[in-house]
Amino acid sequence: MTREAAAAVPGFPGRCLFVSDVHLDAVAGAAEAQFLQFLRTEAAGADVLYILGDLFESWVGDDAHSHGAVLEALAALSAGGVTCFALHGNRDFLLAEGFRERSGCRLLPDPVVAELGGERVLLTHGDALCTDDHAYQELRTIVRDASWQRRFLSLPLATRQLLADEARAGSRAHTSRTQPRIMDVNVAAVGAAFRATRVRRIIHGHTHRPALHDEQIDGHRVQRIVLGAWYEQGSYLSYQDGRYELRALPR
Ligand code: MN
Repeated sequence: MTREAAAAVPGFPGRCLFVSDVHLDAVAGAAEAQFLQFLRTEAAGADVLYILGDLFESWVGDDAHSHGAVLEALAALSAGGVTCFALHGNRDFLLAEGFRERSGCRLLPDPVVAELGGERVLLTHGDALCTDDHAYQELRTIVRDASWQRRFLSLPLATRQLLADEARAGSRAHTSRTQPRIMDVNVAAVGAAFRATRVRRIIHGHTHRPALHDEQIDGHRVQRIVLGAWYEQGSYLSYQDGRYELRALPR
């Protein structure tokens, strides 16, 4: 993360929930049913919902009109007064205006600084912090390029879907032959993110290793909160009155 200062969004009082890596598939399964239930219950009682990337396992363009039930549930949540924000993940980095219109979720840049209870907190999907995975970082640079994205989106929908399926298979193969340590965050990249943005707390997902890490940076106490994935169970972070709590939702 080399940006001097991350973009900022205004703060909100009250109860904020954070999720990431829900990885909703084209086929509605147990994760989708549980996420819809989460939106109707826990999230409906919050003031703000932050989705920190990889809500969807893949997103080949807003014109695919996929995941209607989830988009409708998010729109209902927004209509009910819950402010919903979404960041791009490494799988759904093509979420755009059509997604915003149908879901009511405001798309935020990654990284972004949010003010929570008067504290500046850095929110990011987390893949940019995994700098030891050189092959992935090369791919990330390519697919986040605006002209690459324009070319990809100009392809027929069926072709894009085919390419996305191939990319997922390639990603699975890469993950299975790469050491877990390589796919975790890089300590220096985390330190650089804390220093560049002058925050004392970072919240991210992507690594699927939910935890609260209390660390020291330049003599300051800092905290890195990692959100969990929704493959085997639901997982979210709750913030209220200065307290952060990671919660698992058994399936
Ligand atoms: Mn991810």
